[in-house]
Formats: sequence, C-alpha cells, structure tokens
Amino acid sequence: MAYTVLARKYRSNTLDEIVGQSAIVTTLRNAITSKRLHHGYLFSGTRGVGKTSTARILAKSLNCLKFDAPVINPCCTCESCRLIAEGSDIDVIEIDAASNTGVDDVRILRDNTQFHPARSRFRVYIIDEVHMLSTQAFNALLKTLEEPPAHVKFILATTELHKVPATIQSRVQRFEFQPLSPQEIQQQLRHILQQEKIAADEPVLKRVSRLATGSMRDALSLLDQLISIGGGRLEGALLEEILPTTHDEQLAQLVERLASGDAAASLLALDRCLSTGRTLERFCENLVDYLRTLMLVNVCGVDSELVDIPDVIRPQIEQQATRFDAATLVYMISVLEELRRQIRTSSIGRALADATIYRLSQAENFSSLTELLHRLEGDPGGTAKKKEVNQAEKSISPIAAPVTTQSTDRPSGSRAGPVKNAESRRVAAPPNSQDVTAARNDPLVREALAKFEGQLINVQRRAADQAES
Ligand SMILES: [Zn+2]
Repeated sequence: MAYTVLARKYRSNTLDEIVGQSAIVTTLRNAITSKRLHHGYLFSGTRGVGKTSTARILAKSLNCLKFDAPVINPCCTCESCRLIAEGSDIDVIEIDAASNTGVDDVRILRDNTQFHPARSRFRVYIIDEVHMLSTQAFNALLKTLEEPPAHVKFILATTELHKVPATIQSRVQRFEFQPLSPQEIQQQLRHILQQEKIAADEPVLKRVSRLATGSMRDALSLLDQLISIGGGRLEGALLEEILPTTHDEQLAQLVERLASGDAAASLLALDRCLSTGRTLERFCENLVDYLRTLMLVNVCGVDSELVDIPDVIRPQIEQQATRFDAATLVYMISVLEELRRQIRTSSIGRALADATIYRLSQAENFSSLTELLHRLEGDPGGTAKKKEVNQAEKSISPIAAPVTTQSTDRPSGSRAGPVKNAESRRVAAPPNSQDVTAARNDPLVREALAKFEGQLINVQRRAADQAES
C-alpha cells in the first residue's frame, strides 16, 4: 500500500480529536448543543494549526446523514462524512481564494447559494486564504454574508486576519487559532508513533516539536522525513544529520552577535534566520518573543513563572540575559515592533530588516535621557539600583569622562563580557551634580525632557560630538 503522509493519515476527525484549541472546541460544542450555530465563521491563525481540519469537522457535524440535526460527534462513516473528509462533497464546497480571487468567482458562488443542498441539511462554503480575495470580490461576498439563505453556512479561513476587511469580520463569528505549544505537539507525536509502532528517543520528539514552531503540519512532515530515513527507530544521531538548526538556536546566535555589538556578524546571523524559509513577520515575532524572555529573566529571574524556558537553552538564556539591561531590551522590542508594522506594507522588507538589525547591534550605544541625568547627578540608584551588568553604563563612560576630568580609559571596542565596576563610576560622577540639578530645573530642559522621556538617545555619538567641539 502506498505510504500516506502522517498529516493526512492522522488528520483529526472529530472535535474531540483536535489538538489544542480547547477554547474554540468548547465554543463550537456549545453552539451545536444549544442550536445556536452562526451562519458564518472566520478561522484565523498560522498555517498547520488545524483551521481546515476544524472547518471540515464542523461541516460534518452540520451535515452528517446519520442524524436529523447537527451533532457534536458525526458518524464519520456515512457518505457525506467521508466525502467531506476528502474535501470532495457536493454540498460542502471548498474554495481556495488564492486561485479564485476575482469578483466573478464570488458572483458565481453567490448565485449558487440560492440552490438547496443536494442531500444534506446545509450548503457549506469553506473559503481558504480568504484574505486573498480582491476588494470587489469581498464586496460581493459581503452581500451574501449579510443575509444568507437559511441553508447556507460560511467558514472562512485565513493566515492573515488583518487583511480581511472589518466589514467581513463583523458579520461572522471569529475564532483565533493559537500556535500549538511544543508540549501539545510532542504529545501528539508520541501518540502517532505508538500507532505506527515506531520507537523514538524522547529528545528527538522534543526537538521536532520545537522545530515545528507551533504548526502540527510542519511537525508531521518532519516526522515523515525522519521515518523515511530512520526506519523503525528514531535516534538522536539521525536528527543531527538531517535536521536544520532550530529556530531557537538561530535566534540565540543572532542575539549573541547583537550582544557583542558586531554588526557584520549580526547581519549574517539574520540571513541565516531567514534562509530557512521563515517569513520576515514571523522572524520579528520570534525575535520579540526571545527578547521578551531575556527581559523577563533579567527582571524577574530565571525561575519566574512568567517564563517557560526549555532546558536545552536554559543556560544560554540565563547567560544572555546578563548581557543586556532591561531598558536596552525594551528598546530592542519596540524597534522590532516598528519593523513588523512597516514590513506589512513595504516592498523593501528585507532592507528594512537589515537596517533594523544594524540598529539593534548598536543598541548598547543608546541610553535613556532620564538615566543619563540621574547618572550625571551622581544618582545611579535612581534607575539602576543594584544593576551591576549594565550596557548603558558602559556607554556612558565617554560622556562622563569630560565632566569628571577623569578618563576611564576604556577602549571603545571592549564590549565583550559583563562590566562589574559600576562602583568606581559612581564615585567619579558627582562633582557637577549641582549644575545638573540647576539645568534640570530650567524650563527649556524640562520641556525637552518631557518630550524625549522614555526615548533612547545615542550616547556614543553625542560623546563624539562633544569631543570634537
Ligand atoms: Zn456521518
């Protein structure tokens, strides 16, 4: 018998079998039992999280021929159930909006909604990648969605919710599918391998679940690959041979370069992150997640319940968290969020990403204005308290030097390794603190402070300007 890929063989058949997405499953279940089914649903979420499977399951629940009304557990054996599962039922019409984007396609669809279903209760339209429809097509669809005939149900699916017009979104019930957690994926992989009678080392499953970054489909296609090479047993060594570096590892490498302030190496690391097919937007999300973890570890400690760090990268995260201060991480996150918004509408996304990574590699040269003033006033405790490892403190030395007439004599290239001599600088700063306090009270300075509060300024450049003048 021909080999069926795992993703197809183990596609969930009932609401109970859906992996993760418990909130959505509960809502649908309640809607079916209370007979309060909406005429239109919009499923959004990244690829491989179960949108199409859930759409087909819902269609089976609506149309199963064994029952007189929609049911939670369709029989999965009647003609209707079987054909829906294959995607070839006459009453459940699956349309890929990516290849039927035009207004004419939607008009035909709209005209067809007038016809009653051939043998089932409902005509169900599953429109995949609905965001690809043209504006005209959306308008045509809107008319049908406003007042569909009672025998028609729409299930729209999209990976890019923000591209679906608000007018459409407001006429359907929305479900946001979450990426699956590595634990959920791992559990399902274990279950499938048991069925397939294939032994696998636990670290292999762990790694595959993390590599899948929330997509069950990706996890299963990796598993297919491993099985075709490894045969009856999946071992760690096999993994090293064929699996690419995990996304986490790529990000860790990139962050390492950023921490060292090495712009060229950072740009190369970015290229490696993107060369595995990860989209720019996904990359931004992943990197922001990673930096958030560093920030939480930095502020709350590595054992905080706010962070869930896999054991494999725990030591690395702990070490990297000490290489940035929280302010720098906040700055980096906000810069990346800005990038994420820009690339959505830009055709030069890659250039913007390169520019941003360069900017981040120079992030340690930035410090907040308030922090600078505190430091000039000789009050590092004002913001930094007991922070011993503080990149911003490092960068402050050039500007502090002319004030204190005491050169700290730090070579500008010495970024590597944490700096633990904040004490010495604390002593060096005070002499002009009265002047600074006076300046702080100047209305103009206050206005400027209010304006730039919270923003980070390039300390090194200002120091260089000062040195020149
Ligand atoms: Zn059935």
